[in-house]
Amino acid sequence: MSFDLVLFGGTGDLAWRKLMPALFQAFRHGTLPEGGRIIGIARDDLSDAQYRDLIRSRFDGVDLAKRPSPEEFERFAGLLHFLRLDLSRPEDYGRLAQMLRERHADVVVMYLATAPDLFSQVVQQLAAAGLNGANTRLVLEKPLGHDLASNRAINETVRSVLSERQIFRIDHYLGKPAVQNLFAMRFGNALFEPVWRREHISHIQITIAEDLGVEKRGAFYDKTGALRDMVQNHALQLLCALAMEPPINAHADAIRDEKLKVLRSLKPWTAEALDQHVVRGQYAAGNVNGQPVKGYREEPGVDPESRTETFVALRTEIASWRWAGVPFYIRTGKRLGSREAHIVVNFRETPHAIFSAPPGSTNRLIIHLQPRDGLELHLLAQGSQENRRNGQVLAPVHLDLDFDKRFGSERVGAYERLLLDVIAGRLNLFVRSDEQEAAWRWVEPVLERWRGEERGPRPYNAGTMGPSAASAMIARDGFCWSEEC
Ligand code: NAP
Repeated sequence: MSFDLVLFGGTGDLAWRKLMPALFQAFRHGTLPEGGRIIGIARDDLSDAQYRDLIRSRFDGVDLAKRPSPEEFERFAGLLHFLRLDLSRPEDYGRLAQMLRERHADVVVMYLATAPDLFSQVVQQLAAAGLNGANTRLVLEKPLGHDLASNRAINETVRSVLSERQIFRIDHYLGKPAVQNLFAMRFGNALFEPVWRREHISHIQITIAEDLGVEKRGAFYDKTGALRDMVQNHALQLLCALAMEPPINAHADAIRDEKLKVLRSLKPWTAEALDQHVVRGQYAAGNVNGQPVKGYREEPGVDPESRTETFVALRTEIASWRWAGVPFYIRTGKRLGSREAHIVVNFRETPHAIFSAPPGSTNRLIIHLQPRDGLELHLLAQGSQENRRNGQVLAPVHLDLDFDKRFGSERVGAYERLLLDVIAGRLNLFVRSDEQEAAWRWVEPVLERWRGEERGPRPYNAGTMGPSAASAMIARDGFCWSEEC
């Protein structure tokens, strides 16, 4: 099968940090279909040879194990082409149409790795140039809009020229091996399903913690914030994967229908819940990994009086028979004390205890998403002499499954997997427009509340796990964040 992958924003950060390394890995693994072209697009005036040199130089920063040898790069470079095109100039699209028609590939992937405010324009121009045929697949990166109305407007424009099955809305968390394993664990094993419900689970925590600040993306981030950047998409998709009912099969719409039901069952916000169950924070100067770092408002591109949140913690519930009354906590932020994404499923205590155990030591399933990728099951077992001296019979022990160690280099990275899925036309791991709209609809009242609130985000020192109000929020339910207890 021949393909043309057109990379709008072919010289940008996303292209060289994520997409090119992923495409190269697929090429190296022999999974990228043969007979393809990767066409980088930007306003620079580069020849194919100059573009190849640029990509080659950028591979220097990639992990040694993932870096191509000179011979490998020579072969990979044969796929790379460049086209100078200004996306805001309708007359430029004719040259792309001409380049694509020279070849008539079976599949043409249009990957929009450019600023989101160009999306609608690009899609309309592609259609005007006749580039929305049945073999076209469009990949849209986040953020798709900044609220429900703008998200709908983009979706409407896109759907006016392409059918839903041609639209691939990327949420790269869904491509992460750990999330694949979450689906495998839940729907490929009989073990967990009977306990995966309110009768056995007391609460669930989803944490996506970053130790980095906004780096060079201050101007972008200041208009976005943690709720739009992480919660509306990644965290809610994780919540869907955790809470959805088993789909009737593994086809895209069966999976997406079940995720949509979860999003529609999220408890609507009340004024009290907005007061009690949402904490927003913004990092102040502090120490991360032993290094002093500046506060958010001193970052380049950030308004010195910015009220943008770099941290959110919230509590929600799902109104369904399976989950009624089980709190789901979501927490994400920048410049936190660790770089770690994980889900902690906390099980209830035994109904009747015959052994003494350390306080708070119930069963937990930890799904590690990054930097490690694995499953950790916390159980209670017969303890040591010391436990007995402390008057406890049981002690916590862990069953630890490390997927990196188990599968090593055989693992497929998130972008690699998603790019191959787009070329193959597999939509399972992409987000449908109604899911996205339901997620926006749910976060809107929070944004609305913040807009009208006099008090801005609570400051927290860089290198901590966010404002203490986040711990107070979960403590009101009698729980604590996983690293606190
Ligand atoms: P970036 O580094 O600013 O790159 C933008 C790219 O678009 C450049 O290649 C730029 O090249 C090109 N471009 C801009 N205006 C153009 C125009 N009028 N015509 C043709 N090309 C144009 O941005 P990025 O960080 O890669 O982000 C791209 C998209 O991915 C954004 O939607 C972002 O939100 C999303 N995203 C990025 C990341 C990430 O890690 N970077 C992660 C998730 C999502 P020229 O200026 O030379 O034309």
